[in-house]
Amino acid sequence: MGATISRRFLLSSTLASSISSLLELDMMGQSQSAPQGPSQLLVISSGNGIKAVEKAMAILKAGGSTLDAVVEGVVLVEDDPEDDGVGYGGLPNADGEVELDASVMYGPTGAAGAVGALRYIRNPSRLARLVMERTNRVFLVGEGALQFALAHGFHKEDLLTEKSRQRWLQWKEELSDKDDWVAPPKKEISQKPERPQGTINCLAIDAQGDISGVTSTSGIAFKMPGRVGDSPIIGAGLYVDNKVGAAGSTGNGEANIRVVGAHTVVEFMRQGMAPEPACLETLRRVVNLYKGNPPNLSFYALNKKREFAAASLFKGAKYCVHDGTRAMIRPCAWLLEKK
Ligand code: ASP
Repeated sequence: MGATISRRFLLSSTLASSISSLLELDMMGQSQSAPQGPSQLLVISSGNGIKAVEKAMAILKAGGSTLDAVVEGVVLVEDDPEDDGVGYGGLPNADGEVELDASVMYGPTGAAGAVGALRYIRNPSRLARLVMERTNRVFLVGEGALQFALAHGFHKEDLLTEKSRQRWLQWKEELSDKDDWVAPPKKEISQKPERPQGTINCLAIDAQGDISGVTSTSGIAFKMPGRVGDSPIIGAGLYVDNKVGAAGSTGNGEANIRVVGAHTVVEFMRQGMAPEPACLETLRRVVNLYKGNPPNLSFYALNKKREFAAASLFKGAKYCVHDGTRAMIRPCAWLLEKK
C-alpha cells in the first residue's frame, strides 16, 4: 500500500525539537472548542454516530447524566440494522454468529464496565453499564456475559439480519477454492472478500464537567470466534478521567491494544496536550510499531475545557459532534494518505 504523509506528521517526525514545539502550538490550534454558551454541553462520536450525538444531547438538555446520554445515544445505533459494525445487524464472526463487545466508563466515580464476545443480546452498551453498576467486576465475556444479561431480563434474539447473513455467506463461499463451499453460478465474485470494520465511540461532558464514554462494536467482520478487539478493553477502546478528559477509538483493535490507545491519549492530555495532538501522537506510536505499514485506527477525544478532536491514521475519516446548538459531521485530522 502506498501512502503519503500529512504535512503535520512529516514536520513533527523530522524537524528538530525546537521547531516541533512550535508545531505542537500549531496543532493545538486545530483542536475545536465548543462555544462556552450557557449549556456547556458537548457530545462527540465516531462518524456513524450522528443519531447518537443528537439523542445524547437531548438527554443532557433534559437533565440526564452523561452516562445516560452516551449509553442511550449508542443504543440507537446498536438497534439500527443498517449499521453493520454495531449491535443488531452487525457482521458476524467466521461461523456466522454475531459476537458483540462494549465498554462504558463513568467519570465522576471512575467506574468501568465491559462485555466481550457477547451473543444474542443487541445492546452490549446497556449490559456493560449493568456490569459496572450491578457487579463487583469490570469485564464479563461469552457465556457468563450472556447469563448475566438473561438474569437482568435482556431478551435473547438472533442478531443476524438477512443482509448480514448474505454478506457472511458471500465471504464464506469466496474464501477458498480448496474447501467445500461453492459460490452460486453466475454470481459476481468480488475481487477480494471484504472484511469491513465498524464501531461506535461516544463521549460526553455536561455543565458540571462530568464526563462519560461508551464504545460498542460487532468487531472486525468474520473474525475468529472468541476474538475480542479493543472496544471493551478499558484503556484501549475507551478511557475516561473526570479530571482530564476522555478518549475512545474505532479501527484496528489489535493495533490499538498494543498502544493502549485511549489511555495514552488521556495521559497526553494530562500532560497538557490538546485533544488533537494527543490523538495524533498516539497514532504515531502505531505507525512506529508497524514500521510504515499500519492498519487504520481513529481516536476521538475531549478534555475538561470542552476542547475536542478526532484523528485517524489515514485521511478520509469523519466524526460527529453536538455542541448544544447543532449536530455536525467533521473531517478527522490524519497522518497518512492512501494512494
Ligand atoms: N475496533 C473494532 C475491533 O477491532 C473494530 C472497528 O472499530 O472497526 O473490534
